[in-house]
Amino acid sequence: MAIDLKRTNVVIVGLGAVGGVAALPLTRAGFDVIGLEAGSWLTPSDFAPDELRNEYRGWPQAVQKANNEVPTARPNRSAPYSPRSRLHPMMNAVGGTSLHYWAMSWRLNPWDFKVVSETTRRYGASRIPKGSTVEDWPFGLEELEPYYDRVEHEVGVSGQAGNIDGVIDPRGNVFEGPRKRGYPMSPLRASEFTALMANAARKLGWHPFPGPAAINSQEYDDRPACQYHGFCAQGGCHVSAKNSTAVSTIPKAMETKRLEVVPLAIATSIVFDDRSDRVIGVIYVKGGVEYFQPADVVLLASYTYENVRQLLLSKSGRFPNGLSNNGGQVGRHYFSHLQGFVSALFPFNLNNWYGLPAQGVAVDTWADDNFDHSGLDFIGGGSLWVYSDRRPIGAASMLTFGKAPSWGTKWKSFIRQNADRANEAHLQLSTLPHEENYLDLDPDVKDPMGFPVIRITGEYKENDKRLYAFIQDKMVQWFTEAGAIAIEKGDPIGSMVPTPHAYGGTRMGDNPKTNVVNRWGFSHEVPNLGILGASVMGTSGSRNPTLTAQALAWRTAEHLAANWKSIADH
Ligand SMILES: Cc1cc2nc3c(=O)[nH]c(=O)nc-3n(C[C@H](O)[C@H](O)[C@H](O)COP(=O)(O)OP(=O)(O)OC[C@H]3O[C@@H](n4cnc5c(N)ncnc54)[C@H](O)[C@@H]3O)c2cc1C
Ligand code: SF4
Repeated sequence: MAIDLKRTNVVIVGLGAVGGVAALPLTRAGFDVIGLEAGSWLTPSDFAPDELRNEYRGWPQAVQKANNEVPTARPNRSAPYSPRSRLHPMMNAVGGTSLHYWAMSWRLNPWDFKVVSETTRRYGASRIPKGSTVEDWPFGLEELEPYYDRVEHEVGVSGQAGNIDGVIDPRGNVFEGPRKRGYPMSPLRASEFTALMANAARKLGWHPFPGPAAINSQEYDDRPACQYHGFCAQGGCHVSAKNSTAVSTIPKAMETKRLEVVPLAIATSIVFDDRSDRVIGVIYVKGGVEYFQPADVVLLASYTYENVRQLLLSKSGRFPNGLSNNGGQVGRHYFSHLQGFVSALFPFNLNNWYGLPAQGVAVDTWADDNFDHSGLDFIGGGSLWVYSDRRPIGAASMLTFGKAPSWGTKWKSFIRQNADRANEAHLQLSTLPHEENYLDLDPDVKDPMGFPVIRITGEYKENDKRLYAFIQDKMVQWFTEAGAIAIEKGDPIGSMVPTPHAYGGTRMGDNPKTNVVNRWGFSHEVPNLGILGASVMGTSGSRNPTLTAQALAWRTAEHLAANWKSIADH
């Protein structure tokens, strides 16, 4: 029997990148918020520059919940399962994966909100890939712009604007949608190698620019500037220059004295009351004891896989197939973001031992619909990202580009000479949802508490494959222009596996028949249940998801505060 706790206004499940943002506008508006967080507080001493621990042994060691519930995956209903990874990409701590993420903080481009209508307008409706369930978002970039701006300033993002109120600045992204003002900090500095790559892009007639990062390029909010020593690609920042929510919005919310953080608290179900027709709180386990936290409103912010799992596990008389799932949409419109790599070998050292993945140069010329697709056989595009970041184990496991065997004396000699001469570009592509790809509960595999883990059924479709080939060729062109002497494309794509860029499953849209949450992020079926994170996003663009998910979270929280009576009162 769960121990009943004192009622609060809002309970947030998961205080990571998005839950940690939503707490701020709510507490500032005067609401009492309880943040249930499966992980613990971490301190700078947990953020050792330890590649082995951070990237190969799972991190942080304090709480391994995510690693105990890695989703299973299979390409389609009749195919065998893919090998299951030992480690989950996400982690558990106050601040969530914003502690160890790369911190690239992108806005979506205008096209990403209107894939269906813009594709139809420009090329005809027949160009929407067959079987794709993609929809236009219920609003455009202009609706989200003030929230992007708000988060960029509260979290702290460095970058170079490319379009302020329609005035294009070629130092930034000339393709970006209009913004009201620039970033609060100038961009992270370039490295010798990223400057070389930027010059090569210009020679090709492309538009290189430094990418935005939630990392301080100067002192900001009383925290220091980045020291550029790296090792934080999958680890935290020991000087707090990386702006995780654990050092930005969560402490700000705590200053209001209205946020209570409950660490090491694992939510196990959201409780729905058939009589009042509303959710009434959350059951969680802490230290082996079960508690019931009553609340007027529940905000679910535990990352895509756990958001879907929590809903599917929270069954009641009114929702026998999972909370907010009478329309059968929970788990639908899922996709693992298509990301790819191209590697290049140069005839000189690149000096990449210092630096971090967010310190790089981007080209958006081939992203989204920034180029004419009339004669092409796909829609969408990809952004090209080249950065400086190199660590010993990663360097030693570099490709040999057909120039050496993969072991022995010749291999060692190749690595000795070339460890700092190779670079791997990161490609991010606009991926579409498809009717055959979805999440559900695995019928066999369970976590240590006995709950089924999520199962991914998904594979990349023709549009994704053609787009990937096209974007890889663009990256080959860029590396060649910069003087690479050997280039290798990443492996072909096939099935969707667990990823830190997991979209859909609780999609946002005006149509309750095809979406789980409405345009404000609240369930169509349960008015006082809000859902936060990339699980509400129906398109990815050519971008990492976090800033968009954080802007949406701020918007949902602000909407709740402004409409408290209609959403929360009963
Ligand atoms: C190595 C790496 C690099 C990345 N780089 C970038 C990047 O450069 N830019 C970018 O935009 N994105 C990046 N991402 C993705 C980014 O981390 C996610 O988009 C973001 O963290 C998602 O936010 P979230 O709040 O939904 O999930 P999280 O930040 O993971 O937060 C979820 C929180 O919920 C908690 N939780 C889970 N289950 C429960 C439960 N049952 N009860 C209570 N609490 C629970 C977790 O402990 C966690 O703290 C990267 C991810 C990884 C792994
Ligand atoms: S490189 Fe910058 S963000 Fe990374 S750990 Fe060092 S100071 Fe922190």
